[in-house]
Amino acid sequence: MAKELFDALASLRVGRPLVVAIDGPSGSGKSSVSKEVARRLHVAYLDSGAMYRALTWFALEQGIDVKDAVAVEQAARDFPLDISTSADDEFVRVAGTDVTEAIREPVISAAVSAVATTLGARTELIRRMRATIEEHHRRIVVEGRDITTVVAPGAEVRMLLTASEEARLRRRGIQLGGTQSAEQLALQVTGRDAKDSAVVNFTQAADGVVTLDSSELDFAETVDAALEIVVRILNRD
Ligand code: C5P
Repeated sequence: MAKELFDALASLRVGRPLVVAIDGPSGSGKSSVSKEVARRLHVAYLDSGAMYRALTWFALEQGIDVKDAVAVEQAARDFPLDISTSADDEFVRVAGTDVTEAIREPVISAAVSAVATTLGARTELIRRMRATIEEHHRRIVVEGRDITTVVAPGAEVRMLLTASEEARLRRRGIQLGGTQSAEQLALQVTGRDAKDSAVVNFTQAADGVVTLDSSELDFAETVDAALEIVVRILNRD
């Protein structure tokens, strides 16, 4: 990292509000980049996708049909969620059960869009996200699909992290033109994005949201580019 960037970041590590909202599709590198940005800024970190995944786990565990909007909405209100807000200590617990690994299973990825497109459930999870932002005195990186537009439109920094479809599939370890299961995996990644975009637009930056295209950047370069955006926006205000 350049010395100027290092110095500029040091000046941001004081108590003023610093909500960094980062949206993007799956495979854009959003989670790993958001975590590293939170570490460098010394602020909290919230993975909103993990909240939708945890709700999906809870609904399936309770035998709820994920297409039953009334039941999913009720589950969103009832489910006792304990989620980490530190980039260095990730965990997700539902009613005391550690589901950190379980929520990454394909069965959850396949069902999560149905849960996340239930508007009543979104309302409840958004309420919880906003409460978490306040609990951290508005010093937090929050990543997801609608953070820049719906959850925290007043965030100090709003960023859309994109990458070409080719780069996103490559990062997920999927080589196209290979076996049929590789094609199916590719469909799972792009198919989930297509379903998700029914209720949230995370492919185009809304007004005031800065787009960061990571297609040609490696991890360290993407993190530096994201931090430069943070510094540039805060120095402008
Ligand atoms: O980010 P991740 O892929 O773990 O998100 C899982 C799912 O949660 C997404 O496919 C989407 O259905 C949902 N989601 C959402 N809004 C967010 C974050 C995630 O609808 N802000």
